[in-house]
Amino acid sequence: MSPSISRRKWFAGLMALGGGATALGVRLWSQKQAADGCAETSPPGYTDTPLLPGQKWRVHDIARPQPPRVTPAGLQLPVTPPSDAIVLFDGKDLSEWVQLPRGRRQAPGEPKWIVRDGYMEVVPGSGSLATRRKFGDVQLHIEWCIPPEPCGSGQWRGNSGIMLMGRYEVQVLDPIDNPTYADGMAGSIYGQWPPMVNPGKPRGEWQAFDIIFEAPRFESGQLVKPAYLTLLFNGVLVHHHQEIIGPVAHAAIRRYEPHDPEEPLVLQDHRVPVRFRNIWVRPLRGYAQG
Ligand code: MG
Repeated sequence: MSPSISRRKWFAGLMALGGGATALGVRLWSQKQAADGCAETSPPGYTDTPLLPGQKWRVHDIARPQPPRVTPAGLQLPVTPPSDAIVLFDGKDLSEWVQLPRGRRQAPGEPKWIVRDGYMEVVPGSGSLATRRKFGDVQLHIEWCIPPEPCGSGQWRGNSGIMLMGRYEVQVLDPIDNPTYADGMAGSIYGQWPPMVNPGKPRGEWQAFDIIFEAPRFESGQLVKPAYLTLLFNGVLVHHHQEIIGPVAHAAIRRYEPHDPEEPLVLQDHRVPVRFRNIWVRPLRGYAQG
């Protein structure tokens, strides 16, 4: 996110105090930001960002049409995992997860997110969670809920994300009465593709993503096949084998960079509370071979 005026004032004040205050100031700023996510808002869109390749829209284009609202399918949540699924969160503990550090020098640690009443909840500012296991091509089911209490607006209302391979984000956001740019709304491939329709539910209700993800392929350090993503949002198809342009970025386009064939799944801490439950994956291995 672009620095706010208050942030510039904050650092200007630090400069006036001298360099010795900077480290303390950065730490205090981080704590302030963690507490202030609910007071934040975001621009409704942009007019000066890069054009998306193969599209007529810019990244976070303010003029890009909003997808039409549709009534979601009548899914019975929580969905029971199939017998061959790897259950990453069953509502009881975070043993499949580690906490990612906010600073590069720190090592991953024990998860700090809250577990209660069968769900986990982001502790704002604590850092994102990553799975201990790594995955490539997967079917992923995850249920999420924006807490009923209003907190922030636009990109700050219920922002989290499903970061496939830690890089490719399906956006989690309050999808109802929460204006934002189309390619950043709930169910978007963030900064690239809005959902085709908006089958979101109000805050306080549980919602489901069913994702089919094909990992990118690299050979000799070169991309030979991009990632593709299919998403059913509350039982409604919103992406159909959509090509992913590259790793997630804000107001920018990033190119693919080679990485391992399997990487952890990450849930984003965007410094506002969001809840998750019933998370399971099925690594995709194709048809049985005779
Ligand atoms: Mg996000």
